[in-house]
Amino acid sequence: MSIKDYNTLADRKTEYLAYEGTEIITWCSGCGNYGIQNALERALVLEGVKPDQTLFCYDIGCHGNGSDKIGNKVIYTLHGLHGRVIPVAAGAAVANPKIKVIAEGGDGGTMSEGVNHLVHSVRSNYPMVFILHNNENYGLTTGQASATTRMGNKMNGSPDGVISPPMNCSDFVLGLNPTFVARSFSGDVKHMTDILRAAIRHNGFAFVEILQVCTTYNHATPQEWYLERVKYLDKTPKTIEAARKAAADMENKINIGILYQDKKSVDYLGRLANRAGVKTAPVDEVGRFDINGLLKQFE
Ligand code: SF4
Repeated sequence: MSIKDYNTLADRKTEYLAYEGTEIITWCSGCGNYGIQNALERALVLEGVKPDQTLFCYDIGCHGNGSDKIGNKVIYTLHGLHGRVIPVAAGAAVANPKIKVIAEGGDGGTMSEGVNHLVHSVRSNYPMVFILHNNENYGLTTGQASATTRMGNKMNGSPDGVISPPMNCSDFVLGLNPTFVARSFSGDVKHMTDILRAAIRHNGFAFVEILQVCTTYNHATPQEWYLERVKYLDKTPKTIEAARKAAADMENKINIGILYQDKKSVDYLGRLANRAGVKTAPVDEVGRFDINGLLKQFE
């Protein structure tokens, strides 16, 4: 973000406030969710995305409580089932490409229960932004180990320490031939804003992993731990192989930035031959359909 961006935010105060919720915030003190939500709101305003042209889809988890904390009356939100937010969001994005679809999930639901949905949405290149809140545990259910918890960490439910190696989420997605993969850190709102702006502009499935501080249950990687280790990529790797090398280290030198982007990406609808030249959105073509006649066949 530049000084010009800050001035733009000041000029667009009304739009910015439209993304600000009015419900009581229940996240713990110091939780990374505050910074992530703030960065997302800034990115949307700076990209000129209108609140009533956006759909926010949330998985189950601490981040999911953002569903009633973002926006006021003109915001559309959906709070899905655990691990299942991606297919619902993808369906909305394909049905109505005129709206911007932002989906959010945690490392628990996304990398375990719903990992199949992540895999096939990357392959399909659905036109949406997906934000992975990676706080390395199931925070909402009081700190159990997830697929990204580091080995040896003593968690609720794993009192002797985690015995399986953690998944490297960005590297995992890079192995799926993606079109956009980025990583950021919840302690740097400016960096997250810039990354999310690029994700919003991307034509296809934009995967954004945010390394999120969980002050209550993840004592292994607090804010200070990340501050000592995150390194800012000065340029985006040109190939997936180079991106995987940049994403590999999650212990000592943790690279953040856009890890890979195919700037010629064609999204799901653009890949469908039978949609070539079609000006309407699928949602316009369906209209209202009375299914009563259909249901009567089964009476
Ligand atoms: Fe945030 Fe962790 Fe508290 Fe959940 S448990 S609100 S992730 S600090």
